[in-house]
Amino acid sequence: MADPEVDPVQETLVMARYGELFLKSEPVKRHFIGLLLRNIRKALAASGRECRFETPRGRILIYGSEPAHVAKIVSRIFGIVDVSICHRTTTEIADLCAVALPLAQVRLHAGMSFAVRGKRQHKTGMNSQELGMEVGSHIYDNIPGLTVDLDTPDYEIFIEVRDFGGLVYDRRIPGPGGLPWGTQGRALVLLSAGIDSPVASWLAMKRGCEITHLFLDAGRWAGADVTAAAIDNHRKLSVWCAGNPLSLVIARNEALFDRMSHKKVPPRYRCVLCKRFMLRMAARMMKHEGALAVMTGENLGQVASQTLANLGVIANGINVPILHPLITYDKEETITIARRIGTFDATPGDLACRAVPKMPATAAVLEEICALEEQIGVEELAAAACTNLRFVTALDGRITADSAELPQ
Ligand code: ATP
Ligand code: MG
Repeated sequence: MADPEVDPVQETLVMARYGELFLKSEPVKRHFIGLLLRNIRKALAASGRECRFETPRGRILIYGSEPAHVAKIVSRIFGIVDVSICHRTTTEIADLCAVALPLAQVRLHAGMSFAVRGKRQHKTGMNSQELGMEVGSHIYDNIPGLTVDLDTPDYEIFIEVRDFGGLVYDRRIPGPGGLPWGTQGRALVLLSAGIDSPVASWLAMKRGCEITHLFLDAGRWAGADVTAAAIDNHRKLSVWCAGNPLSLVIARNEALFDRMSHKKVPPRYRCVLCKRFMLRMAARMMKHEGALAVMTGENLGQVASQTLANLGVIANGINVPILHPLITYDKEETITIARRIGTFDATPGDLACRAVPKMPATAAVLEEICALEEQIGVEELAAAACTNLRFVTALDGRITADSAELPQ
């Protein structure tokens, strides 16, 4: 029996698991885990925490104060599959039982089913199943009215016996998965005030990309709340790369709409011309930002102008890699992610585009579009737009710098 005078919990720590990194070769894995640890350290330091780390196989153990807070921060780090707050004890079965029972008593009550998931690192001694059964029997004998259900239990508790000791925990807080931020180079993301592009940006981050955002401010052609909403999307996304400043470049495209109106460009072509202008601006900025691709929240068939035919015309001649992470998503799927990542706004205000025609062209003809671009002097417009940029930096969910607020 465990000595009742001695607390069997030696310490409480946070354990993070990573997933796909396992599939990499040893040197790549080492490199990626190094970046993952750097990202975790930066995120924790940003919230004023210094922690100690251990990295036994497949796991990251994080020791420090306020484990619940640490777990919340680490559960937002790309590459992490899930996070648990663990109680560490010895590998003695009596100690494991003594830690598991009070933990179970908090959430496991008469009438509920439960399962104990045992895991032993080594093959000698008790196996994982026996470990689960031992601890399970102890819980079963001490909490009346329980049933065991190994398939779909109401409550699960996990017992791990490892080289460094025993771990007991009963929650796995899901992380975002993906690859560590910074492992795949930089993408320039066209960020709007809407729902889609923040999700596209988040998905690009999730796959390891560092991000620069580009927003096109259409001035009086855009709804009154558009610029503020785009900046807010940028701010919200910065919590996902905590500890790393996130850059937003704002360029103006009001002159494009003025010119289209002045030159009497058929309104049905406005959307295609506007999107081509955005990509043209992105292509101009990529080099300066060190970006390897442009990404957008474009989606097939969501609005009349987003046809496959138009998407082809929009990208034609831009000559940089253009990726659309949401191309095949249903709107509901995108909204579900937006809610989960905190970018969804149920009352976004006036985001209407004043230039959208009633009947946008669904199959724009490339030659016609190119001729119209010549007519409106699109290269000269893009060059002029590049001379009047605003830079907004966000860090950990706050706007920390805005060139518009600097003295002129
Ligand atoms: P919604 O969620 O309302 O569909 P959206 O941002 O997807 O908003 P769309 O008109 O569907 O808006 O535009 C498609 C894509 O074009 C966006 O996802 C975004 O990548 C880019 N985009 C649109 N407007 C802007 C803008 N003002 N500045 C930068 N990029 C933009
Ligand atoms: Mg959209």
